[in-house]
Amino acid sequence: MSLSVRHNTQARGQPLEFHYRSRNPFGTLIALAGRSGWFYLWPLTIFVLKQSPAWVIPILSAKAIDTLSDPARHSLHDLLMFGVFTLLLLAQNVPMHTYFIHLVSTTIRRMEQRLRMSLVIRLQQLSIGFHDKTETGRLQAKVLRDVEQIQTMSMYLCESGTMGVTTIVFALCLTAAKDPPMLLVYLALAPVAVFLIRFFKKSIRERNRDFRSNMESVSAEVAQMLDMIPVTRAHGLEGSAISRFRRQTDTLLQRGVHLDRLNATFVSSSWVTFQTTTILGLCITFWLCRAGRISVGDVVLYQGLLMQIVASISVFTNVYPQVAKGVESIRSIGEVLECPDIELNEGKQPVTRVEGAIEFERVEYSYPGTSIPALKGFSLRAAAGDCVALVGPSGAGKSTVMGLAIGFRRPTSGRILLDGADMQTLDMRQYRRFISVVPQQTYLFRGTIRENITFGLDAVDRRTLDEVVEMTHVSDFVRNLPEGLDTPVGEGGSTLSGGQRQRIAIARAMIRDPRLIIFDEATTALDAESENLVQDAIYRMIQGRTTFIVAHRLSTVRKAGKIVFLRAGQVVEQGSYDELMALGGDFFRMNELAG
Ligand code: ADP
Repeated sequence: MSLSVRHNTQARGQPLEFHYRSRNPFGTLIALAGRSGWFYLWPLTIFVLKQSPAWVIPILSAKAIDTLSDPARHSLHDLLMFGVFTLLLLAQNVPMHTYFIHLVSTTIRRMEQRLRMSLVIRLQQLSIGFHDKTETGRLQAKVLRDVEQIQTMSMYLCESGTMGVTTIVFALCLTAAKDPPMLLVYLALAPVAVFLIRFFKKSIRERNRDFRSNMESVSAEVAQMLDMIPVTRAHGLEGSAISRFRRQTDTLLQRGVHLDRLNATFVSSSWVTFQTTTILGLCITFWLCRAGRISVGDVVLYQGLLMQIVASISVFTNVYPQVAKGVESIRSIGEVLECPDIELNEGKQPVTRVEGAIEFERVEYSYPGTSIPALKGFSLRAAAGDCVALVGPSGAGKSTVMGLAIGFRRPTSGRILLDGADMQTLDMRQYRRFISVVPQQTYLFRGTIRENITFGLDAVDRRTLDEVVEMTHVSDFVRNLPEGLDTPVGEGGSTLSGGQRQRIAIARAMIRDPRLIIFDEATTALDAESENLVQDAIYRMIQGRTTFIVAHRLSTVRKAGKIVFLRAGQVVEQGSYDELMALGGDFFRMNELAG
């Protein structure tokens, strides 16, 4: 059969990992924002404009007091003019503030989206080994929670950070212009803030890391608990599942409280220190005024400026806990974006055509971190169009052979040849366009039956789809559905029977018109009629294509041209059904047991 379909090309999107350096969190943030240095001048100008009333009000207060205390030297008219000017400045705050937030928000929200997209692109590139060892819930927490933390931190830095810096600069400039020695009082504050941050930094960082990793564990636990609900319910283990979750959240609760307490100590220590400094500042200006060096208005002005500086430095110390959380999230995301465990396909030989001959040459494979190889000296030759059944006890290495044939795993030693070419030298992404995998567990996503079958294909012509639907017996049950192929299926295919789900999975594999089929025959207990239909669908699909089947049913094994019996990672018997039965070995005994 010749099928007419078009594959989805590589998802669009520029991976970010090249800019991503979690060791340099702020450099990374700027790179993530993706704006040139000049861009920042514009929001900065808008910020200065919208913030200016806050700086001008202390000057107005000082002028008012000086006009009252010394009317001969300060005119009421000047004061009134200055008052009108301040009111005008105040009026522009609303539109300017909204515009400033619009500028900042579009940059930061875009960064948030780029970060999520980069994570998803990277997660699609990372090896199956990485996904095997990383729980889904943990990764979910990174894509959702950590990105949100970075967004919140960036928002804080843009608003509060800019306010802090500009206010300090303004107060320092005004004081330097009026009375330079007063600068010394302000400058004394900076080391105090630096000291405070340094003093608390290490513990805040450690507590944040603890909390973040605990949060990821809880997220992984939720994902696992939801997956397990049918099993938990079936065994009446709801109570144990709830207690298990409570233990996890108890730890999270304790760590959260510790973190909040530490943050509170830090914030209030800063507050007390800074307030003490303002009192000290007041003493100095009071003394200077009594000595006749400055006016009463100046006392008010300096006090106003000092309080603004203190408020700005406090802003930094107040946002520090949030910044620490954001920095920890940058690190957390780095665990994915900087992970080198990806499949390298760049520069490899393109695969434009696959005949389907595949050969394993003395292949050995050990899972990372294990000492006993899962596969030893495995050799197997399948010509194009052959059907090979892998049988053997569980743990024998059947799935490992499948993983190697798909190119998910690379042999620790030995070679796998595809149409005579070493798989190591081939672009595996292109190779996989020619293969179809029907896993043991049928994955259906929320969508229509049609979408589930044509998943990943841009265009499928109607005749092809009808043909596939007919051949795989999907038509048998779709015919009775009110919306036919456009009937929505629940998440995981919950509204369909096991046999129906399997037939959809087979249709999905078949419509891709693969040259090589990797089939993990499901053990789902199907009724005799469903089993016959599924069997028939499998049989029709594998005609003329190279097929590897992990076979659980004797009927499938009988149809396979070659049977490989595996035990403890080694081939113990290999041959046709009749040959192995005649041998009277492991395969024969397995058949006897199955009755
Ligand atoms: P089968 O499919 O025949 O049941 P597998 O290929 O899944 O067997 O497993 C072969 C061996 O490799 C087993 O001993 C199993 O414990 C081990 N194994 C399988 N997957 C992993 C993994 N991700 N990490 C470590 N060991 C694994």
